[in-house]
Amino acid sequence: SPSLLWFRDDLRLADNPALTALAEAGAPVAALYVFDEDSPGLRPLGGAAKWWLAQSLRALRAELEQFGIPLILCRGPATRLVPEVAAALGAARVAFNGRSGAQAAKVDHAVAARLAAEDRQVLAFCAHLLHPPGSVRGGAGRMPRTFSAFQRAAMKDRRLTPPLGAPNRLKGMAHPPEGEALDSFGLEPEHPDWAGGLRTAWTVGEKAAQARLSAFIREDLAGYAGGRDLPAADHVSRLSPHLSFGELSPRQVLFAIRHAADAGTVPGSDADKFEAEIYWREFSHHLLAEVPDLARRNIQEAFDPFPWRECPGELKAWQKGRTGYPLIDAGLRQLWQTGWMHNRVRMAVASFLTKHLLIDWREGEAWFWDTLVDADAASNPASWQWVAGSGLDAAPYFRIFNPVTQGEKFDPDGTYVRTFVPELARLPARLIHKPWTADADTLAAAGVRLGITYPRPLVDHAAARERALRALESTRKS
Ligand code: FAD
Repeated sequence: SPSLLWFRDDLRLADNPALTALAEAGAPVAALYVFDEDSPGLRPLGGAAKWWLAQSLRALRAELEQFGIPLILCRGPATRLVPEVAAALGAARVAFNGRSGAQAAKVDHAVAARLAAEDRQVLAFCAHLLHPPGSVRGGAGRMPRTFSAFQRAAMKDRRLTPPLGAPNRLKGMAHPPEGEALDSFGLEPEHPDWAGGLRTAWTVGEKAAQARLSAFIREDLAGYAGGRDLPAADHVSRLSPHLSFGELSPRQVLFAIRHAADAGTVPGSDADKFEAEIYWREFSHHLLAEVPDLARRNIQEAFDPFPWRECPGELKAWQKGRTGYPLIDAGLRQLWQTGWMHNRVRMAVASFLTKHLLIDWREGEAWFWDTLVDADAASNPASWQWVAGSGLDAAPYFRIFNPVTQGEKFDPDGTYVRTFVPELARLPARLIHKPWTADADTLAAAGVRLGITYPRPLVDHAAARERALRALESTRKS
């Protein structure tokens, strides 16, 4: 009798232990994806991630078709649908790879229990992380509270085994039950179609992810440690959405990076830095396993009385990239246009929202959740809390990025700003991060009319900094 593979955040054939287990079982295979916005506690995907999901499911379906494996699509609660599809197939076994977060684990346990009660074998694996959640323990027998201690503890006994290849002996199931049409899920915008920038920026799916990884190792890994801070340079991998949707596993990524370093084709220091970033991802996911409401509550409760401001107008200006600070605006427009933002600028815009505007980190987290193609239930809230100062091993609140000097340091010739804020493109580099300091002739020559073609700064940096420090002081006292 047939086997059922339940796909989730693992939309790939290679290094997919659930698929490999079913290939080894030898029976014909059908595949299932459940678009689940109904299970309690599961966070519905944001707009950009839904767009990505639609493309990724199409790519996966095409890959599976080569083996004659049908991809059945359903919409609704997984706890009901997975057992129903398994029953309709008469499946002897159901395999899946685990997901992050306590709520997702709860759904998985409920599904597994129902399948087992119906005498179906359940095969569950961990393939989205290098270390299963809960397995990295520090001195006190719990997850280490600082990133460096976490990485040290995780790597102490690590054996980085080679990733699994895509199985070559797969048999599809002959007459699978029909699922629903992908188009009926409403994952892609129709009117208005805002996804043009996403289509231009990305190629989605496992093949594209593998090609991106190879290109990154070949062209940009050497020099990553220094180049990763420059938003105009192409020295980062842009693998984040591929990792979020599991088109690649972290093991595949890290194994290839270490292999390149061991072969001497890239410096070990660049590979080490990249490995640390993959461990930041692990750190966030392990944290989510402990703190299911990571996107809602401060990890450090001392932050609870913080006097966040309610100001929808300023929040809107920030979302639209109209704060009057060019680096901040460039980042937020890059996000809107491409569904992604460079890490250095993510930190700057998050700091600006929470410290210059004193707007709650949850507002920024929600905006990123809706607009990022790599929106990640662990890394997004953990990173927001890290910047805001309420997170684990967080940057101290009193470290307030100056958006002008950040721009001058990391985008010295203004290339990044010119790309995403074209109305400032003709300003000289020495003024591009602070157009309000330019004299009238220079502004006129560059075609900039402050307050008309480009906004004046929403807040004054020095005054905003003082206000943020006062807010912190008042929180400490209470
Ligand atoms: P690279 O520099 O090439 O890094 C390789 C991989 O390591 C990334 O693909 C990612 O999986 C992981 N990684 C790198 N930096 C981090 C980090 N700081 N924390 C966790 N994982 C990391 N990353 C997401 O994947 N999803 C999010 O929703 C997300 N939200 C963020 C929100 C804020 C406010 C900040 C400051 C950071 C956020 N990050 C998030 C982390 C980081 O910015 C992105 O992972 C990175 O910019 C993705 O680009 P890349 O793949 O080119 O990164």
